[in-house]
Amino acid sequence: MITFDIITIFPEMLSSYIKESLISRAQKKKLIKINVHNLRKWTHDNHQTVDDRPFGGGLGMVIKIEPVYKAVQFLKSKFKNQNVKLKKTKVILFTPRGKKFNQKMAHDLSKLDQIIFICGRYEGVDERVAQKIADMEVSIGDYDLMGGELPAMVCIEAISRLIPGVLGKEALLKERITKTGGFIEYAQYTRPEVFSPKKGINWKVPKVLLSGDHKKIEEWKKEHGKVIE
Ligand code: SAM
Repeated sequence: MITFDIITIFPEMLSSYIKESLISRAQKKKLIKINVHNLRKWTHDNHQTVDDRPFGGGLGMVIKIEPVYKAVQFLKSKFKNQNVKLKKTKVILFTPRGKKFNQKMAHDLSKLDQIIFICGRYEGVDERVAQKIADMEVSIGDYDLMGGELPAMVCIEAISRLIPGVLGKEALLKERITKTGGFIEYAQYTRPEVFSPKKGINWKVPKVLLSGDHKKIEEWKKEHGKVIE
């Protein structure tokens, strides 16, 4: 089972997501575990301060290193305290300057036991978190978001669907994963075989998919597929 520990100052943003659909079912089946942690839990002042002004000036506030350090220490040690032999864990900091998340990275991360995601906010996170605490800096694309919560959901979804049992049909999942960790995607159709939005206009499903000839169907899928890497 893979455990996702998400450190955020907006835990509510994730709460409905983790209760829905296949992600919820995967947790019930104990294939994945998602824990959402409020960073403010690791503060000690009355205001539960998690941010401060940037040295040298700047646009907005910066997430402080102390609560992040304490949160990560706690989440790493949690397994040791439970006597769980934890072999593979990674701490990931979300930043638009990070390594681009892709299918291959999702595939590699799906082999881990625990992933701790640090979601930034405001002007970002004290750079020492990237330098001294995180194992990896990850970006989900070349655009600037307001926080790391959506990136956490994107990564959890892409990683979880690679875990055998999460999507249901394990054998079919295996067929779609390439040797290098890529994923084969192709066009899909369902009933009706012919859709007529207007008289005289017929949008048809490719004949080969209705033929029942498995060899030809496989060839069609290969021809029309794309490997996502
Ligand atoms: N100045 C920060 C930096 O260079 O890392 C970015 C600040 S951004 C406004 C606030 C937070 O949103 C970041 O700390 C990061 O956690 C998250 N974020 C924004 N865009 C992202 C992206 N493309 N991929 C991953 N995380 C992103």
